[in-house]
Amino acid sequence: MRQTSLSFEFFPPKTEAGLEKLLHSHKALQITQPDFFSITYGAGGSTRERTRDIALQFNKISPNITPHISLSGDDLTEVKQLLDDYKNNNIHRLVALLGDNANHNPKSTAITMHAIDMVRLIRQHSDDYFHISVAAYPETHYLAKDAKSDLQFLKEKLDAGGNQTITQFFYGETVWSDFYERYSQLGIKQPIIAGVMPLSPQSLGFCEKCQVHVPTAMKAKVTQYADDQQSLHQYNLDYLTEFCQNLLNNGADGIHFYSLNQCNLFIDICRKLY
Ligand code: FAD
Repeated sequence: MRQTSLSFEFFPPKTEAGLEKLLHSHKALQITQPDFFSITYGAGGSTRERTRDIALQFNKISPNITPHISLSGDDLTEVKQLLDDYKNNNIHRLVALLGDNANHNPKSTAITMHAIDMVRLIRQHSDDYFHISVAAYPETHYLAKDAKSDLQFLKEKLDAGGNQTITQFFYGETVWSDFYERYSQLGIKQPIIAGVMPLSPQSLGFCEKCQVHVPTAMKAKVTQYADDQQSLHQYNLDYLTEFCQNLLNNGADGIHFYSLNQCNLFIDICRKLY
């Protein structure tokens, strides 16, 4: 019997074929008995309807759907309407975020709202009805003044009503241990779930955009397997199984897979891991 949390992140597909594939992944991943599936939210409400519709549809199949919800560029009335929709449709969990915004200037201090405001809004709207996850960044968020204040703001989000933390994905041996050492000093009681994403030639660009460091040797391996899906699968399976085991042995209360709507690799990892 697994003692730690297990979850998968999906994004709302744009096409019917993408939705079919996601339905398949959602069904196939049930074998791993996850605690929840989360559905991302496009900043500025760009996927508002799709995120909501998929959340409501999938929650009828497995009542553990966890939509992401963000403030970035969204109208407060629309956010409250979304909270009403979720509450009226038996959705009990959310990931509360600031949200990525194309207009964020890393050098700017002009952001007036933060994820903590979303946590407060949810609590004001519906008291303790929702279980709320918030985000953390083992390599420090790109807008943060410094690593120390970034962690302090995480604690404030949790103190304001967050029930657990999910981290950004990361790679390499020391990122987690360095982060967890600093994190442990804050005396946070809520669980922390480590975010894990497989590597592919395509994801290297995404890592760069998110300012997630990929060790040179890993980049080289992934690039080497660009035209060899089987070797890439085996590489991710071996690396991520050991990586997740280390995280679980060293303080992580669970694993949240950034699934990119896939399933086979995660089923194989879970078979080896649990
Ligand atoms: P915040 O907690 O507001 O932090 C943002 C920055 O502001 C940090 O640098 C922090 O140090 C600083 N800060 C925080 N609070 C304060 C404060 N009170 N005063 C001053 N500074 C403060 N993006 C999407 O668009 N859609 C998604 O679905 C999505 N899902 C995600 C899921 C996870 C698990 C993670 C880790 C990230 C996700 N993101 C998503 C990305 C995220 O929304 C962006 O990185 C965003 O810029 C930060 O969001 P946050 O909730 O961490 O913001």
